[in-house]
Amino acid sequence: MTITKSISEEKVAAVKQMIEASRKIVITCHKTPDGDALGSSLGLAAVLAGDNKQVQVITPDTPPKLLKFLPGAENIVIASRYHERAKHLLDNADLVFCMDYNAPMRIDRLEPMLMESGAPRIMIDHHLDPEDFTDVAISSPEESSTCALLYRLLYQMGWSGKIHADAATCIYTGMLTDTGNFSYNSNNPDLYLIIARLLTTGINKDEIYNTVWNTNSVNRLRICGYAIYKRMMLLRDYSLALITLNRSELREFDYVKGDTEGLVNKPLSIPGIVWSVFIREDEDDFVKVSMRSTGDFHVNTICEKLYGGGGHCNAAGGEYHGSIKAAVEKLFGYLPEISAELEKAKEKD
Ligand code: 5GP
Ligand code: MN
Repeated sequence: MTITKSISEEKVAAVKQMIEASRKIVITCHKTPDGDALGSSLGLAAVLAGDNKQVQVITPDTPPKLLKFLPGAENIVIASRYHERAKHLLDNADLVFCMDYNAPMRIDRLEPMLMESGAPRIMIDHHLDPEDFTDVAISSPEESSTCALLYRLLYQMGWSGKIHADAATCIYTGMLTDTGNFSYNSNNPDLYLIIARLLTTGINKDEIYNTVWNTNSVNRLRICGYAIYKRMMLLRDYSLALITLNRSELREFDYVKGDTEGLVNKPLSIPGIVWSVFIREDEDDFVKVSMRSTGDFHVNTICEKLYGGGGHCNAAGGEYHGSIKAAVEKLFGYLPEISAELEKAKEKD
């Protein structure tokens, strides 16, 4: 069995030529970066740095602490802290990669810097409906992670030999996090061919699993326990579980970014619950919405419609500028509209 070459050969050749013609390469990923965004960015950086390129990863905001173990994470330029440095790097880049995002608005404060930079852009991403803002778009919504897509691209370029342990750790981490430890979107046999190849570089997948999924601070455990015990509402008529956490609750548990990562998935383990919504009040009048679903029930369209967001069919998010109460009311107001779709999803579940 071999890995399917699903990326067009013209695009593969174009990427190769653009990299070869560049010395200063900037790699960007979406705001509130997750394992896939950081893994694909740092994985690509590790591969290119081995080729004597000057490579710099820039994130719009601070990556979660949990992902600081990724090789190269210590060298990231965080645009929200080092605005001028990020701008200088983008202004002087020969080539910019756009990893794990399909629209410039996903990079927040980096957007004007990216659009003003004269450097050609290459997108590597697996979100639906990519916008036309790059010179070459390697966009593959059927791929479970950008990291798997990155591997495929490097493989088609004939560069899989350039993936050593550091890059492999990053790529494996993104594949792991975007599939919930290979528990969803993970039936493509190619994934396991890729993993087998990554393992030959000497990475320790069990250690990565434990670092990413099995590490909790006391506060993190307590806040998730509290959220499920006290703040989870089940709306059985709509096969929906809703968790909300407001600012004072977050303060009570000394919440730090990343503490509620994965929480939204938990209610899906309840039989009969088809979708799960988590609404968190990050700041006064600013709330973050996360949704997860099973089967054919599309939460990305709901996030787009209600909260100006998007994502994948079964994992999506958005933001609401207003009170947490109003964000919840908006969701409740929408429920009657989706009854029919839910019935269909339940039948299949
Ligand atoms: P999470 O719920 O883990 O924050 O995000 C799940 C997925 O939803 C992300 O991988 C991303 O694809 C998408 N997503 C989350 N927040 C937003 C948002 O504000 N806007 C858009 N367009 N997509 C989002
Ligand atoms: Mn992703």
